[in-house]
Amino acid sequence: MKFETQAIHVGEEPNLKEGGSGDVVVPIHLASTFARQQVDRPTCGYEYSRTSNPTRAALEKRLAALEGAKFGLAFASGLAAETTLMLSTLKSGDVVVASDDLYGGTRRLLDKVFAQNYGVSVQYVDAADLGQVEAALKAKPKLVWLETPTNPLLKIADIGEISRLAHGAGSPLVVDNTFASPYLQQPLLLGADAVVHSTTKFINGHSDSVGGALMVSDEALYAKLKFSQNAAGAILSPFDSFLVLRGLKTLAVRMERHQQNAMRVAQFLSAHSRVRKVIYPGLPTHPQHELAKKQMRGFGGMVSFEIDGNASDAKAFLSRLKLFALAESLGGVESLAEHPALMTHACVGAQERTRAGLSDSLVRLSVGIENADDLLEDLKQALG
Ligand SMILES: *Cc1c(COP(=O)(O)O)cnc(C)c1O
Repeated sequence: MKFETQAIHVGEEPNLKEGGSGDVVVPIHLASTFARQQVDRPTCGYEYSRTSNPTRAALEKRLAALEGAKFGLAFASGLAAETTLMLSTLKSGDVVVASDDLYGGTRRLLDKVFAQNYGVSVQYVDAADLGQVEAALKAKPKLVWLETPTNPLLKIADIGEISRLAHGAGSPLVVDNTFASPYLQQPLLLGADAVVHSTTKFINGHSDSVGGALMVSDEALYAKLKFSQNAAGAILSPFDSFLVLRGLKTLAVRMERHQQNAMRVAQFLSAHSRVRKVIYPGLPTHPQHELAKKQMRGFGGMVSFEIDGNASDAKAFLSRLKLFALAESLGGVESLAEHPALMTHACVGAQERTRAGLSDSLVRLSVGIENADDLLEDLKQALG
């Protein structure tokens, strides 16, 4: 089955057997516990909803299929998924190598929890520079953590090449695939060992559920993650599982429109006199445009740009927007705009932001699926 078909059908095959209802949409199984006939074995495969739940299981099956993975696991947030992965694989004294332009919350989790409280050391590299990655791998990290495209600078890392280098050092590669979505990029098929998602973003796509996911194909790694999902308990609720199953059905068509609109926005901004620089992997001016073309099926819905001015010019622009909501988060059908230095990346610290090239005049857009002409008009009036 092709992606679009899997996104609609996997996990929601109607049950036409005796006792089944034939419904084409999986029910929201709210039960916290499941009755059994005998003491020593759950009769229908379920015992307690933290351990597993039929609605969540349907979603986990679909998430795995869409990433080309054998196994999927759904969590209460992207960070809950990340925490569970770190708890399952790291111990005191271990090293993590991570890209330097990570989602702010991931960086906070690594620095303020795993490094500060649990003695894990984290080494940040510019993952677009394979020499830096190779040098860092000498420390034999227990995890190599990549985001591509990164947030908010949309840097692209070579997943295939980095997985080859990581495996050479005996290190598994984790890719946060939130920005691309599995429709545009499938890291496991390029060599990664685990994929992380904030399903809050493109996967659910409607800004009405917070969730996360892990997808893997290695059975031993899956067993560890499944154990920790139950042991730590940060699971996705049955209702949210239903919402994400519903959102996924339109992932392919949404992503197509997101990226068509994002390209229009990127071209419009590139030609505008009040814009200093536009960052979009689909523009030939993007430094890793060729790599993006090679490992992605499209360039996504995120566009970042620098206003020709300072932080207060960026703030004034944002406050004039009418259609783009000034809000954190991304990946929903509605367009959003935000100021990374003051909002999503405030916790990173000014010095580190400067080092990473994240300017105070940078604006990040999550381009929605509205009519592109309306979006351009809003940007035009706010820049004018
Ligand atoms: C939002 C986000 C996360 C964290 O996910 P939550 O669902 O907010 O916990 C992780 N990585 C990326 C790239 C994100 O955008």
